[in-house]
Amino acid sequence: MSAVSHARERVRLALARPGDLLRELAEAIAAVVEAPAMVALLDGGRLVRRAVTEGAPLPAGTLVATTGTVCGEAVSGRRPVRIDDVDLIPPAIGDGGYPDACCPGGRSLLSVPVLHGPHVVGVISATAPTPEWFDAMDERAVALVAQVAVARLAELQARSEARAPFCTAPEVHPGGIPSWITTVGSSTSPTPASPTHVSRPPLPEPACAGASPAASITSPIAPDLDGLRPGSGPLAADVVLGRGLAAFAGTTSTPGLGVWEWRAGAGEVLWSAELFRILGYEPGEFRPTPAGCAAVVHPEDRSTAARLADVLRRVADGDCEAGGTETFRVMGADGALRHVQVWAVATPDAEARGAVVVHGAVVDVTQQARDRLLLERLSATDPVTGLGNRLAFDRRMKELLAAPGSPEVSLLLLDLDRFKLVNDSLGHQVGDRLLGEVARRLRSSVPEGSITARMGGDEFVVVPPAGLEWVHVRRLAQALVDTLRSPYVLPDTGEILVCPASLGLTSTAGREAGADELLSEADLALYRAKDSGRDRYVVYDDALRARARSRHNAELVLRSALERGRLVLHYQPIVGFDTGRVVGVEALVRALDVAGDRLLPPDTFIEIAEDTGLVVELDLWVIDAAIEQLAHWLASMATPEIVPWVAVNVSARSMEHPRVIRRLLDGMHEHGIRPQQMKVELTEHSFLGVLPGGESTLRQLLTSGVPVGIDDFGTGYSAMAYLNRFDLDFMKIDRSFVARVGQEDRADAVVTAIVDLAHAHGMQVTAEGVETQRQARRLREIGCDFAQGYHFGRPMAAARLIPTWRG
Ligand code: C2E
Ligand code: MG
Ligand code: MG
Repeated sequence: MSAVSHARERVRLALARPGDLLRELAEAIAAVVEAPAMVALLDGGRLVRRAVTEGAPLPAGTLVATTGTVCGEAVSGRRPVRIDDVDLIPPAIGDGGYPDACCPGGRSLLSVPVLHGPHVVGVISATAPTPEWFDAMDERAVALVAQVAVARLAELQARSEARAPFCTAPEVHPGGIPSWITTVGSSTSPTPASPTHVSRPPLPEPACAGASPAASITSPIAPDLDGLRPGSGPLAADVVLGRGLAAFAGTTSTPGLGVWEWRAGAGEVLWSAELFRILGYEPGEFRPTPAGCAAVVHPEDRSTAARLADVLRRVADGDCEAGGTETFRVMGADGALRHVQVWAVATPDAEARGAVVVHGAVVDVTQQARDRLLLERLSATDPVTGLGNRLAFDRRMKELLAAPGSPEVSLLLLDLDRFKLVNDSLGHQVGDRLLGEVARRLRSSVPEGSITARMGGDEFVVVPPAGLEWVHVRRLAQALVDTLRSPYVLPDTGEILVCPASLGLTSTAGREAGADELLSEADLALYRAKDSGRDRYVVYDDALRARARSRHNAELVLRSALERGRLVLHYQPIVGFDTGRVVGVEALVRALDVAGDRLLPPDTFIEIAEDTGLVVELDLWVIDAAIEQLAHWLASMATPEIVPWVAVNVSARSMEHPRVIRRLLDGMHEHGIRPQQMKVELTEHSFLGVLPGGESTLRQLLTSGVPVGIDDFGTGYSAMAYLNRFDLDFMKIDRSFVARVGQEDRADAVVTAIVDLAHAHGMQVTAEGVETQRQARRLREIGCDFAQGYHFGRPMAAARLIPTWRG
């Protein structure tokens, strides 16, 4: 619910619930002006009852209407008073000590008198700690609420009196209705009284019956009545104008605030001069008949306006509870389109028993509506690219998908493949320009009527017009990938940038799907496109969802395994070709499944662990467990020198956390483990991902003396570059190369080249995945230093391992 409709709802509730009306009103006003507020009822200028919202810095007491205060000024001047900054308070109001006494801490003040007939029967005040908080619109809104409230109070008073004449016990007001309603005219001789002991002269009979003597319309408001014209027939102002409209008229000097009154019984509509002006007429130039009024409503807003017409119909049927407020557009006589907020509240007609009268107000909210539209437009536009943003996308998708019988809707989600690199290396200005150019290319490639938005970062979405044939949607996806693939030239330097995109594509395909669902599907497809090499599009299918689900399950398993310590280390022997003995082991982690009866291999959870960052916790656990195991072996073996070194796998993400390596070194130190008794395996991909933070951790590790090597060598693209950059101790040739060794000359040649390369860099070589005697023999001939694979032993529990190195 927007702030405006929330505030409006509060007002409606306040007016509908007589119980704690003042409090409700105060809260409604606080919601409208977004500041603490007070509503006070007065009798002869004295405080009768008051409600204050939380945080209103108003002292208890009777200060409300004393002179020399803003409230007092509003009451005595019968006009709203707004103080933008108490430091600049006009001497006419402030008497030096005033601001602190009335509103400690308040810098902006707003006070609006509540008028009923000739009387000021209350005052509404709001205080904010910030200068220039309230504006003219706040003033008008509060005045309006005051008018509607007073009509409602009068009506409640009339009804309450019919049940119990409480006007003789003024200090206790059942339902919060003060006695002033029944004492119209009495303030000409106000009786001084304390707020809790108000004494009052006996009331004349007609007042208690709820009728208002004609004398209650006194001269101070007479000039304001000039603008009032009847909708039909000549107007005898002193007869037709009951206290309701007279009270309204008392505040009609505010530009943009018109009031009206409709007497169902008499069939008369009265308008204030300002109301004519709001509609672009001279007063009296327009006949406010129901048909005439309906005709000026903008055709698109007629159903909204009709709701108010319905209120009038109910009133005509005698419903004095009817009321409402609506905002719609009207076409003025001058041709201008205006936004108006129209209020209507029914009360029993004081002039005709049993009849009902509607008091209404019309506020010209055109400027606010325009401001809001502009604000909406700005808040829905991405400033970097000029495309719509997420908000705009959500709105337009809602409209698109809500259209009855809406044809198939497709959604393309794009993400630039190397944007982070561009931003990091060339700066955000270049990044922003690139985004602008991407937006331009998208705009010129999508069919007319498409929704194109930037969802944030380097993510864009395109929704082609509904009903576009699937074959064309796919063509569009390819065209977008193609157009984003072509290089960008930076205008200043002539530098060439390449920043392709990956794209996920989905469609409603004969089912009902919301925007969020489509986005989530396109996201899965996009993820897949990135995974399978980027610079392409992938269409969503249910298998992607199944994969996402299994990844989600894997994450749950891993989290619970980490939390409950349900991880296990297995060790796989590594054999030295020179001696044929087990010289090392690799620690390989497994997770117990949720039931606790199955060991899950790492390939079911390592990827998700890396994606979620859980791998850091995992690696820490492995480091601790491996060190403990090695320390145990060293301590328990009679010949510790035969205990093999233990290699641990450390992921690239862990390398970005210096505490991981710290933990390894501290743990080794604590258990008296020498650097050569452990090894660290980093995958080739880890090197590619090395960030500045990771690089310093790697260098720290290299200087510690613990041997560091590249795992799965040959599976990355450019590990060669890292061989020169870092002084590594070993490499492990990926088993995909080893698999064909001894069978294909080409495989032998490749592995020979790798081994030579490693040796040339002073690195030892381990062949992974050695499964046969033949492979082992050939690898030994080629010059590999170590071998690991099922041929020598599978990964196994620590207890089963010992015999392999003893033998
Ligand atoms: P890796 O470090 O390359 O580990 C070797 C993998 O090859 C192990 O799979 C091992 O069981 C398997 N293997 C060994 N010999 C043979 C063979 O002769 N034939 C075949 N087909 N496979 C063989 P595992 O245990 O499933 O580990 C898979 C990967 O998971 C590891 O590859 C490593 O990258 C990762 N990993 C394992 N434990 C950890 C850990 O504690 N931390 C991190 N970050 N990653 C780990
Ligand atoms: Mg490994
Ligand atoms: Mg490996």
